[in-house]
Amino acid sequence: THNKTAHIVVLGGGPAGGATALGLKTLGYDVTVIAEPRPFKAVEGVSERVVEGLRNAGFKQALANLPQPSPRLASWNGATNSANTEMLINRNELDQGIGRDLQAAGVHLVHSRVGKVSETDEGFSVELKGSDVAQLNADFLVEARGRSAPAAGLERLRGSETVSLLQYWQGEPCQPQSAAESFEDGWAWMAAWSDGTRYLQLTFDVASADLPDKAQLIDHCNAILRNLPSAQSFIANAEPTGVIHARTSTPILCREAVGDNWIRVGDAAMAVDPLSGNGIFQALSSALQAPAVINTLLQHPDKRSLAKQFYQQRVDHLFHRFARIGRDFYASEERWWDNPFWATRRNWPDNQPLHQETDPDSLQVVCMPVVSNGLIEEHEVVTTNDQPLGIWHLNGIPMAPVVRALQNRDERVSPQTCLQTGLGMSPEIAEGMTRWLYQNHWL
Ligand code: FAD
Repeated sequence: THNKTAHIVVLGGGPAGGATALGLKTLGYDVTVIAEPRPFKAVEGVSERVVEGLRNAGFKQALANLPQPSPRLASWNGATNSANTEMLINRNELDQGIGRDLQAAGVHLVHSRVGKVSETDEGFSVELKGSDVAQLNADFLVEARGRSAPAAGLERLRGSETVSLLQYWQGEPCQPQSAAESFEDGWAWMAAWSDGTRYLQLTFDVASADLPDKAQLIDHCNAILRNLPSAQSFIANAEPTGVIHARTSTPILCREAVGDNWIRVGDAAMAVDPLSGNGIFQALSSALQAPAVINTLLQHPDKRSLAKQFYQQRVDHLFHRFARIGRDFYASEERWWDNPFWATRRNWPDNQPLHQETDPDSLQVVCMPVVSNGLIEEHEVVTTNDQPLGIWHLNGIPMAPVVRALQNRDERVSPQTCLQTGLGMSPEIAEGMTRWLYQNHWL
């Protein structure tokens, strides 16, 4: 397309800001990312799925020094499971690697703190702190400052207010390992690094936990840790460093995640409960859709409302999916049923099942926005009761003609024959498609 002269500024250089910037660069845009390093040391556990997501987003250097997966112990509802593993990553290092990937791709990276952002006649003016450049203009703004992104005036859906308190302990060098365990007022996630650093995170309900003031917080947390069976191996032969850091972990959905010349991605659009361990994956999910949405807003103003509708629907859908995963996990802890921490979380955000079995009668062919060649366009897709956002292609085969042919077929004709004669599919492809349709309850 034409006119790719728009200057796009991304605020924040975490996984979401980074992935959006790489995608925009691939589409031919001039992109500047303003990022300040994370102000505290954070360790996070990531699954193979997160690594795959980062790789798909185009990151290379960010993945260069990932540790081997280490054992993860989970103690929940009185049962202990040690079958899983996770990779324990240093978030500061991951974010530095993201910065190197951005520079290698030709994205301008400015190490600075974003100050005031104001709207101008042409776009936005961004004030920078602590760098040689004091101010930058943007035609289009990507808000990717994570949970700290300002959201004044935007409608948001919030779950129960939640806080995670992190402590760092120091012990002998050891095998890396992590553990999650529930307790009466919340849950703990603990990690030990090979260098002996222990990272102990307790998550509480802000309203009901009755947390003491800052001076007594460490003692309060340590009293809980001393009683947690799986914490023992993390605190044995280790000493608290006396540093405690609070991170808000309330689930938040921004109901207005996109405008004509701005978009929010990652945690700034929706942040999930860290319980599910899906944070980075979910941040990437919104960021991977954003470049096509931005491209459409800039190149095809006539399709603005379509592009915005597409993006907001995806953000809402992803948020609810991850929120329901968290809800079901909370509901599986039955020992402190009446404690407000557990009672509020197992009923939020709603009572809809995570997945519904597909009802063949629910299948519909409708026009919906999809990503096509870096743009949002309307196409015929198939929606089902479990897939309200629609399915366009399956292995490159458009599904709307398949469903339409089957819905119009003479009952004496088998589905496979119908696809062969009606759509000209080869017998092998028609057979594979028919099998898929039966397996997925579309027939
Ligand atoms: P972020 O990664 O938060 O990136 C935002 C970036 O913007 C940061 O680098 C920040 O320094 C920068 N920034 C902020 N303000 C400014 C400013 N004014 N100027 C310039 N730069 C700025 N996810 C997992 O996958 N696994 C886990 O184990 C996990 N544990 C978690 C534990 C807790 C307690 C919490 C709260 C979250 C956890 N998450 C975890 C979630 C994960 O951290 C986020 O979902 C993910 O980092 C979101 O990516 P992002 O790019 O949207 O935002």
